Order: sequence, then C-alpha cells, then structure tokens
Amino acid sequence: MPCKEEEAAAGELAGLTERLLRFRDEREWREAQTPKNLAMSVAIEAGELLERFQWRPGDADMEGEALAETAAEMADVFIYLLLLADRLGVDLARAAWDKIEINEGRWPPN
Ligand SMILES: [Mg+2]
Repeated sequence: MPCKEEEAAAGELAGLTERLLRFRDEREWREAQTPKNLAMSVAIEAGELLERFQWRPGDADMEGEALAETAAEMADVFIYLLLLADRLGVDLARAAWDKIEINEGRWPPN
C-alpha cells in the first residue's frame, strides 16, 4: 500500500511524463526515441552534467548562472529517464521507492 508521499511523487511524475509525451508526439519523434536511443541520451546528458563540474574544486558551491546551467542538465537527464521509463513500462517512482527500501536494508543506520 503506497503512502501519501509515494502517491504524490507518482502523480507528479505522471504529469511530467504526459507533457513530455505530448511534446514528443506533436513532433512525431516517437519512432526515433527507441529504448536504446533514450538510454544513450540519459548517459549523454549525464556527461553534459559532469561537464558543469569539470575543473571546479570538488567542494565548490555553485550559484547563479552556473547553478542554472547545472539544473538544466539535471532536467535533461531526468526527462530522458522519464521517457525511457514510459517506453519500457517501468513505474519509475515505484522503482525508486523499492530501491530506497533495498538500500535501507543493505545499509542500516549506525
Ligand atoms: Mg543537455
């Protein structure tokens, strides 16, 4: 039985996915967005996210334009992950909740 937080997260992801699918379909991009291409796009956008940190000191805070650019790359990763989840029929929110539970069991608090 999902808790309130789980239901809210699932609803938010469903709304985002619906809008992404509308954007995709209005441009007739569905055929190109195969699972392989979407998985590759997740990795490519993750690389762009890493670029935002390249040559920065490891503990440097980020703000202003640099933070906005980083947020945009994070969104790109997230968007492709949502599209991939939809294409594969994966409930991404459910998978994340399940993974958190696994991690909590694997690494109990000190
Ligand atoms: Mg990008």
